[in-house]
Amino acid sequence: MNYTTFHNGNTMPNVGLGVFRVENDDTAKDAVKHAIISGYRSIDAAFIYGNESKVGEGISEGIKAANISREDLFITSKLWLEDYGKENVKRAYEKSLKLLGLDYLDLYLMHWPGTDENLMLDTWIGLEELYQQKLVNNIGVSNFNIYHLEILSNKATYKPVLNQVEFHPYLTQLELRNYLDRNSIQMESWSPLMNSEILKDNVVNQIAREINKTPAQVIIRWNIEHGVITIPKSITPSRIEENFDVFNFKLNDTHIRKLDELNKGKRIGPNPNKFNG
Ligand code: NDP
Repeated sequence: MNYTTFHNGNTMPNVGLGVFRVENDDTAKDAVKHAIISGYRSIDAAFIYGNESKVGEGISEGIKAANISREDLFITSKLWLEDYGKENVKRAYEKSLKLLGLDYLDLYLMHWPGTDENLMLDTWIGLEELYQQKLVNNIGVSNFNIYHLEILSNKATYKPVLNQVEFHPYLTQLELRNYLDRNSIQMESWSPLMNSEILKDNVVNQIAREINKTPAQVIIRWNIEHGVITIPKSITPSRIEENFDVFNFKLNDTHIRKLDELNKGKRIGPNPNKFNG
């Protein structure tokens, strides 16, 4: 398993499990538990997914079954827009902790920038306070464009350790990636499999056949080759294992170039400049 080091010296696993659109029942618990038993050490949760309680049970059962400790895991959750505003952050953070059954998070993210810049900045200051008080190990953002990150860089005390954004071969985010690189902010991809759409692409399938891997493994490896942390979601035990079996091969430069060339700026999620919940 590979880890990435943030600008603050802390580390995060390069591949984790996403849990968006997973029912808050044994489906969530079993997926998280199976992931931990299979070697995953990172789980990407969010308050708005409505499944933090069952994700938390999966974490607790996974820790026991894999005979590891809480400190071996890297747990992320995200602050939802209706809890924005500096004065609301700590309460929302504690609500997520309670649901997850944890006493700290490894990473807490602002889920979206929103459309009110002052509120965005005020909320970030709330996250900074959590970090200063050592209640959370790392703070970051999600769905921020360069424009939003520039506002933070002019006014904030701490810069985010990472920015979690939509990224797959149809949306390669080159300009944002270069900006994040220059500013030592890690990029993390959401919907890396494009919610399975990219797995049907001909080029992806050709490369997969050529190197005897699955299309999902090709895409996850492509994230790793680009230095992008990723969190593919699956509730299917065999796919959870498959998506993590990506550390024993590499893509060559031609594969990477062919995948990069698939870019067409196509999003499956909302435009971060306009989304407000
Ligand atoms: P993904 O791109 O990870 O795709 C998930 C879909 O692909 C599911 O239908 C899954 O099916 C299927 N799948 C997974 N592995 C395989 C495989 N090996 N072969 C074939 N099909 C496969 O979608 P998500 O949108 O869930 O994104 C991943 C995570 O990113 C989310 O769960 C969430 O944690 C995060 N996210 C964050 C957002 C943000 O705004 N910050 C927005 C959206 C997502 P099945 O489960 O049935 O196996």
